[in-house]
Amino acid sequence: MITVEQALDIIRQNIPPARFEKITLIDSLGRVLAEDVFSDVDMPPFDKSAMDGYAVRSEDIKLPPVELEVLEIVPAGSMPTKEVKPGKAIKIMTGAPVPRGADAVIMVEKTKYEPSSRTVRCLSTVAKNANVCFKAEDVTAGAKVIARDTKITPQVIGLLAAVGKDKVSVYKYPSVTIATTGDELVEVNQKPKGAQIRNSNTYSLLAQLTNIGMPVTSLGIVRDDIDIMTEKVSAGLKSDMLILTGGVSMGDYDIVEDVLKKLGVKILFDKVAIKPGKPTVFGIGPQGQLVFGLPGNPVSAFVITEVFVKEALSMLCNDAGIKNRIIEAELAAAIEHTSNRQQYLGAKILQDGRVEAIDGHGSADIVSLSRADALIIVPPDAPALPIGSHVKVLIII
Ligand code: AMP
Ligand code: MG
Repeated sequence: MITVEQALDIIRQNIPPARFEKITLIDSLGRVLAEDVFSDVDMPPFDKSAMDGYAVRSEDIKLPPVELEVLEIVPAGSMPTKEVKPGKAIKIMTGAPVPRGADAVIMVEKTKYEPSSRTVRCLSTVAKNANVCFKAEDVTAGAKVIARDTKITPQVIGLLAAVGKDKVSVYKYPSVTIATTGDELVEVNQKPKGAQIRNSNTYSLLAQLTNIGMPVTSLGIVRDDIDIMTEKVSAGLKSDMLILTGGVSMGDYDIVEDVLKKLGVKILFDKVAIKPGKPTVFGIGPQGQLVFGLPGNPVSAFVITEVFVKEALSMLCNDAGIKNRIIEAELAAAIEHTSNRQQYLGAKILQDGRVEAIDGHGSADIVSLSRADALIIVPPDAPALPIGSHVKVLIII
């Protein structure tokens, strides 16, 4: 049986190179830039006023109060037509170009306008360059403003807009199809009878992938029948990634691996020393499609998606943000039971930053899982871990 690290390596080695697409600016939110972005303008584009006030020569008002003649008013979006000479001022609005001759802007709150004489009384001094933003002080036209591989956040969107990027080149999302297998499954709006059980995996899986922005198609429930499953799986193989749940253990009706092989999928592993999720299958389809067969137990399917599927997706679209962060934290309660497989235990992060495993009943217990916001990673064959031990913790996003 391979280790979790070996399984991750096999996954990483089989990820096709990331692809690009050009999309509109606002659609690029949350994606990763696939190009360096350069500014096509100086920012600011001219020396501009940072305040509503009067453009003056600072030396004119060294001994306030001082009266200056007001030559004109310059709103944002207009060019000044006059020059500020000794004893003169030009009224100026925030964002308007500073007129020639002026070396500062005195804010309107520190002045008093006299309409009868068209003069302004300056009530305080102003330092040279005060309230002026200089041409190109933020960036010069032609300079690189955002590097390739940057995650596009709302802050980045504003800059992309300012440099004229109405279309943005980003790493392409893979197409992902999911299907869940099992004769016992009924839909959410049905009440299970006898030996039936509601299909929860489709929904948790859809939620896990949607939560990281991934578009997903669901084929719904697939029966444990070779012909039906063959048809559904071959439809799913039209996607870049196919994720199946259930049917990968040792039971008589666990036929997923056989169906995959029949359709030309090369199985790269089908057992990993991980708990939960030992029977996890990973393979490559004839066109390089990535195929995951997750165990049907809901906690196993959930954990394997966090640990393996998100790793693959993160590489496919070059987005480290899709991957779960792993931190180190202190145990607030002992962990008695360890395993010869690497365990991922549902856990809560406490206010004080310590972490505590949630008592559960194993890989079908979605009630316990619903309370977890992290998974404590317990290495294989670890000794019992007393309170205060330091452990690795995967934060579920
Ligand atoms: P399997 O991996 O197919 O042997 O299934 C293992 C366990 O998970 C069985 O108890 C199944 O009933 C359960 N199971 C399988 N698929 C789902 C699903 N989609 N939703 C909830 N439970 C499931
Ligand atoms: Mg099954």
